Amino acid sequence: MSHPFSVILPSGEAWIPHFVDSLDEQKCIGCGRCFRVCSRGVLQLLGIDEAGDHVPLDDDDEEEDEHEKKVMTIAHRGLCVGCTACAKICPKGCYTHAAAQV
Ligand code: SF4
Ligand code: SF4
Repeated sequence: MSHPFSVILPSGEAWIPHFVDSLDEQKCIGCGRCFRVCSRGVLQLLGIDEAGDHVPLDDDDEEEDEHEKKVMTIAHRGLCVGCTACAKICPKGCYTHAAAQV
């Protein structure tokens, strides 16, 4: 039988991390709040081109302005430690998280 992955904290209490599962790009306004609270480098802000495809953002401001819309993406899912800070700060309810089963 599988059960939720948990860790034992130094206090002796068990904690069940909830890992990032999905990010609804239709709801995302590209505000970057989630990126700023993620300590693990999981997230990446990307531009959306005319065809609706993801395109990297350039550091150059003029280049960034070419993109009508920006969205946050889950670039490195495997680095997530399941803190759910991204979901708590998101004003648009873009995220779902889930416990891992082991
Ligand atoms: S749950 Fe925590 S570690 Fe995972 S993506 Fe969100 S802020 Fe980053
Ligand atoms: S906080 Fe929410 S709306 Fe803002 S960039 Fe992150 S996912 Fe998108």
